[in-house]
Amino acid sequence: MNRKASFQRKSGPLVLDASAFIMGLYSASSNKGAVTTPEVMSELKNWLRSSSSILSLERLRVSSPAKKFLDEVRQASKETGDFLKLSKTDSSILALALQLKSQGLKPLLVSEDYAVQNVAHHLGLEYAPLAEGIKSQIQWLTYCPACKKRFKADFLGKTCPICGAEVKRKAAKKFPIKRKN
Ligand SMILES: [Zn+2]
Repeated sequence: MNRKASFQRKSGPLVLDASAFIMGLYSASSNKGAVTTPEVMSELKNWLRSSSSILSLERLRVSSPAKKFLDEVRQASKETGDFLKLSKTDSSILALALQLKSQGLKPLLVSEDYAVQNVAHHLGLEYAPLAEGIKSQIQWLTYCPACKKRFKADFLGKTCPICGAEVKRKAAKKFPIKRKN
């Protein structure tokens, strides 16, 4: 069964990953109620500071999922073969969506990440990719928060070879997508 759903449908809270904010989905859908995790907010810290767009963050709920749901996500990602592709942030939003579902809500997970969508499908969660209406792309910066060294994207979640801290990513900037007319 295809669980891909549209943003327009009646749904419970939107569970947003960082790309959803940057692509402007949050401000457009804030009246539906949105939730995210501290991990996502941490990836967005610099972007929020530098962004000229005004986000109404008062309707946003930031919450951490219980360990039980993180365990379930880890198990599911091993089953689908996505375990190594999921960052801590990815797992956190999947687990949060799972937790909301267990509370009887109908969360819609919004992520452009294929591994996230794949695990969401496996867990029976509804998800929506950021397909149409995207006006900008994100540039991710993969870096060590301790020593500031930059890495290639596939270093995300690994240990910094220089200082031993965990390699993270942050949204560096967005730029418009050139459309063919
Ligand atoms: Zn380092």
